[in-house]
Amino acid sequence: MPKCQVINCDDKNSTRHRFPNPKKNPRQFEIWIKATGNTKLEKIDSDKIYKNLRICHRHFGAENRSTNMYLKPNVYPTLFLPINFSPTIEFENPIIQENLPPKPAIPCEATGKMITVPSLNNWAISLEAFKFLTFNLKHRFNIKFFMPRRLNQDPLENFFGQMRQHGGRNINPNVPVFINHFKTLLVNNLVIHILLLLLKLFLILLLYIS
Ligand SMILES: [Zn+2]
Repeated sequence: MPKCQVINCDDKNSTRHRFPNPKKNPRQFEIWIKATGNTKLEKIDSDKIYKNLRICHRHFGAENRSTNMYLKPNVYPTLFLPINFSPTIEFENPIIQENLPPKPAIPCEATGKMITVPSLNNWAISLEAFKFLTFNLKHRFNIKFFMPRRLNQDPLENFFGQMRQHGGRNINPNVPVFINHFKTLLVNNLVIHILLLLLKLFLILLLYIS
């Protein structure tokens, strides 16, 4: 059985799948190559890859498989991949780019010409990114549900706000300083929580005794 081309995959038993035909379906072929994380493949002739190399069945989710150990058309590996196969890379892929929504345009009051508004355009991209994120969380990380309303940047802003407070006058910390501030922040928060917990326990004990 030929070795699976996905980097660090040591599967020896499951069915092997041929790469998509690079002549008929070059983009699909490209995604498969990227998904393997195997940079050596980029130097190998695509016909040779198609003829000789394989990817094993475990990299395909149930939604990509047809019943009899075959794959549905136009699928790509999503499971047990090296970490560096990130959605960003997929985003750069022309297939994803093609699927981005057309830029929403509205007529300009003064000239009557159709213009694109950055905020509308970004909103459309956000919605599309949302669908993409949902798909990946579900199929790659097996997350059953998540709370979209938690997806906002407030926690991040709070975090950086606290970090800035720590820095005092230093508003442009370098990496070691940033890491140190982060550690201090962690320890401080932890200590405060432990103290609060101890206080609660103490009060409960006091109530119990009295
Ligand atoms: Zn494999």
